[in-house]
Amino acid sequence: MIIREGCGIVATERIGIMGGTFDPIHAGHIAMAKAATVSGALDRVLILPSGNPPHKKGITPSEDRWRMVCAAVAQEPLLEPCRLEVDRTGVIYTVDTLSELHAIYPEAELFYIIGEDTLLELKNWRQYERVITLCTFLVCPRSIPASPEALAAEEAWLTAMGGRFLHVTMEPVDVSSTAVRRALEGGGEASLLPVVCQEYADLMGLYGLPARLTGEQQDWMAKLFDALSRKRFAHTLAVAQAARELALRHGLDAQRAELAGVLHDCAKCLPEADMRAICLDNGLTDDPAVLASGNLMHSLVGAYLARQAYGMQDEAVLTAIRVHTMGQPGMSPLDMAVYLADKIEKTRRPYPALEAVRSAAQRSLREAMLLSLGGTAEYVRSRGEALHPLSEQTLQWLKQTN
Ligand code: ATP
Repeated sequence: MIIREGCGIVATERIGIMGGTFDPIHAGHIAMAKAATVSGALDRVLILPSGNPPHKKGITPSEDRWRMVCAAVAQEPLLEPCRLEVDRTGVIYTVDTLSELHAIYPEAELFYIIGEDTLLELKNWRQYERVITLCTFLVCPRSIPASPEALAAEEAWLTAMGGRFLHVTMEPVDVSSTAVRRALEGGGEASLLPVVCQEYADLMGLYGLPARLTGEQQDWMAKLFDALSRKRFAHTLAVAQAARELALRHGLDAQRAELAGVLHDCAKCLPEADMRAICLDNGLTDDPAVLASGNLMHSLVGAYLARQAYGMQDEAVLTAIRVHTMGQPGMSPLDMAVYLADKIEKTRRPYPALEAVRSAAQRSLREAMLLSLGGTAEYVRSRGEALHPLSEQTLQWLKQTN
């Protein structure tokens, strides 16, 4: 693609490529991709998880790695997951990937992002003499540095063969996928694993963790990933995690809270007309204010779909999903935990009351509900809109019973 600028200057798009197993993706990968966009003046970075290598055993299935990559970078506008290698069968070689990318983006300049350790491995890549002609390498430092002499020597002879290398300016991040896997398998914490990936791994039982989604629930992740935008899928994982934490904090049923978090937005990305049809066909509501708003309808339709399409039978979970947008007078502590998890999950973009609601939620669910719903009421009114009567009643109920 050619980007045409004001006075006839033509700039070629600069595309970064980061290939890897990403088993799982971690904060080091994300930091290197972001730093590479700056050092390499890149327009975007394609992140390419490898497929399921036929010769390698013990690797997490590619669709799980893919979904974790998509969730982890959902809020990074310049990082773009790419399925090229996930969808290719058989052994995957970088030389083929680069050739394909040149065919897809004939005008672009390609920059392959690697860690220093990989620079030392390049000569083992299939047709590396050709690979080095197909891209410029952006080399990122690793926290356990390779010998500077060995790196310089390797770079010098590859440069002499026509290779091009640039060095990315960044603080090394002390993490590898191996270290993350070992920490999880040993029952420990992996602080540099994005929270959405940790939640995905917990739900699906990856890396030796006991699966929290059991039996047919194991299909939910694939279903939700298809039904939701990537941002919404990532948010869903973060809400499930936050709901579980709040439930544990306040002595509630953590499993129920987490399952409600997983399903709470299952209808959110449906077209409004479809939501309306589901509401009317199934008698979910005839309230014109609700029927006029996808935002208000999605929780009612979500509870309906959670039962019908996901097989959720637990009424407490279904109620928490149903009341997570407007609230409800008399709502239970579990309902509040799910409602609040939606508002304070760890990947949430900052809004004025966020930190206050977060800290109140640690002390009292009711206090946090008052703050959160009160803030929503102010926001809605500031836009000249009316707060839905159910939320108004919930607010009054919370005030009276505080
Ligand atoms: P593993 O521990 O399973 O080998 P990894 O953490 O090295 O995994 P890969 O998916 O194999 O991750 O890595 C893709 C690319 O990212 C490689 O070029 C690797 O050198 C680089 N890389 C991974 N982690 C870091 C890090 N913390 N800092 C810099 N580069 C990294």
